[in-house]
Order: sequence, then structure tokens, then C-alpha cells
Amino acid sequence: MKAHRTLLIRLPRDKCDVDYMRRLMALANLAYRGFEVWVPDVPRTIQHQLYGFRDFKDSLVFGTTPKRWFTKTWVPLKTLRIYADGTRRGATDALVILDLRSNVIKLRQVCKSEPKYIVEIPMPGWVVERVREGGDVRYAMIGLRGEEPYLALVAERTIEPYQPSGYRLVVDVNSWKYGIAWGLVKNGKLITWRTEGPGTFLINTLYHQAVDRERKTGKLRRLGYGGTAVVNRVRKQAKARRGKIYRITRDKAYFLASKLVRKALKYKALLVIDDMSEESRRELLEEGLPRDVIKLLMSNLKRFMHQLETLAQWYGVPYKFKRLPSTICPVCEHKLNQEDGRVMFCTNCGFKAPRDMVPMYWAMKKEST
Ligand SMILES: [Zn+2]
Repeated sequence: MKAHRTLLIRLPRDKCDVDYMRRLMALANLAYRGFEVWVPDVPRTIQHQLYGFRDFKDSLVFGTTPKRWFTKTWVPLKTLRIYADGTRRGATDALVILDLRSNVIKLRQVCKSEPKYIVEIPMPGWVVERVREGGDVRYAMIGLRGEEPYLALVAERTIEPYQPSGYRLVVDVNSWKYGIAWGLVKNGKLITWRTEGPGTFLINTLYHQAVDRERKTGKLRRLGYGGTAVVNRVRKQAKARRGKIYRITRDKAYFLASKLVRKALKYKALLVIDDMSEESRRELLEEGLPRDVIKLLMSNLKRFMHQLETLAQWYGVPYKFKRLPSTICPVCEHKLNQEDGRVMFCTNCGFKAPRDMVPMYWAMKKEST
């Protein structure tokens, strides 16, 4: 099985010709659609590589598998890797050279259409780590994100998932309000269990600060101060606070995905992922939370799922997606009633458990059948 991981690196803007890169993206877009257009003012080497990638159209480079930014067609490029011991792998005509001896990445002619134009960037530790793990950075891409130039590196690793040892790591993806619940299960027993997420107190504070400032700008505008320095400053403060909440959930998403995959590796567990985010969204709506709050509480959950899957593939952790009920009794399959404090109660058999724990009981039950 081939696993992939990608890294985005921002390129120095003053060393890149953004218009030129935009043209390259347009050419890549045409190539993706099956056209072959040879233009005189773009180096032949780049155009050769571009059309050489046609055979990969539905796979890694042109495909939509690895990342969503493929929608804006990035320019696929071959790489040459020079390892610490001097061995070389990859294409000799590559325009992206990863030199692990001197720890630099050299980009030839892809940032500016000038002969022998080279941009050098420091080698990210990410590459060194992926190579140490047995990966190989076979492909690179350049493109614009907004108006900013970026280099994307794609590491590839061939790995077979291990045989699960009997442990199962069940991950329940809720909203950030109640966190992501995980439980380690073996032989019908719940060994450890936790819910994790960012501190909701901080998110709450930031959210209310943002709303306060948004109200203030509205008020100032109505008084005729729209567009003044004061209004702009307050608006910026509001935006910064919403941005901060987003960054907090994003960091938590990456942190938890990595933590859970490491845990699965440690126990050689089968990773069982239960995506309850839609159910959680409905639950938050029923609680009467404003839509923008729900949006923040659900932010980066897709990113978490994606990262969890990517890391599981990369480290050979076997995983599967499974829906586990949280409102049906795992003992008698009667509908559960919800009591205060999100405690679920069965009127038929007396089963009682916190809502986020019910799926874990289902996981234990399904394991033994
Ligand atoms: Zn019951």
C-alpha cells in the first residue's frame, strides 16, 4: 500500500514572479483537461515535465486524492533527492532539488522565467523526518494560494498495515463543545477512556470578545463613523479573535490526530473511527446555539478526520469507519433517554452512561459478536 503525506511551504514572495506562476498554473489546468499547449515564453523543460505527467492524471499528481487545493491546478514537478551519503534518486532534469547534504531545497526556473534562476529555501525538518521514516519525496508542486506562492512536497511511503493485536481504539468525532471521545477496548473491556478538546472557556471568552467588538463597530457605523480608523481597528480586533479560535481548534485537531495514531501504534490497535459530526451539529442546533458559534465549534473537524486517516495510512495503522449509536441502548437496543448532564438512561433495562461513552459500549459489544 502506498501512503502519502504533503507539506506546504511558503515561498519568499520577493523572489517569485507571481504572474509567471499563475501562467504555469493555467498551463497545468489545461494539461489536466487534456490539452497540450506549447507556449514560447515558458522554458521547454517545464512544459516537458507538465505534459509528461499526463499519465498520472488520475493518480497522485493530478488526482484529487491527497489534498483539496488540487482544485486550483498546481504545477506538478519532478524532484531530485541528494541524500546525506551522496546517493541520488529521482530525475536528473528535475527542477526541484532536495539536497539533504547541505539541507537546502533548490527551485530552478519555476519561480521566475529566467535561465538559471534559482531560489533556495532551507530544508524543512519535515522532509528529514519523512525520509527517516522510510518515505521518499518523489513529487513537488508549486502554486498560489491567494496571492502567496507556495511549494508543496509530497512524500510517498510503501507500507503494509500491521495485524491488529486485539486492541481497538475507538474514536468518536463530536463537536469541540464536548470534545473528541476516544476509548481503548480489549476483550469486551474498556481500558481507558477520555474526551479531549480545546478549553471551551477560552473559546467562549474569545467569542464574546469578538461579538462585543462586532456590535461596537455596528453601533459606530450607524453613528456615521464608518470607515474611520477607530471602526477599522475594532473590526480588526473582532476578526483576530475569531481567527484565534479557528487556530486553536486547528492546532488541537493536528495534536489529537497525532496523539491517537501514536496510541494506536503503541498497542497495535485497530483504529475505529466514528464520525458523529452531523449528529453533533444537530445536537448543538437543538440546544439553540447561534449558527456562527456552531460553525466555530465544528471548525477543523474535517481536518482532524483527514489528518487521522493520513497519519494512519502513513504509519500502517489499520483503520475503519464505523457508525456507533449513542442514543440506542447497547444492552437491549431500546431507545435511550437523555437526562441532565448528557447522561443516557434506558427505561427498559436500566443501563446508564454518559452520552459520549455509549458508542464505546457498542464497540465492546460488537467486538464480542
Ligand atoms: Zn436497555
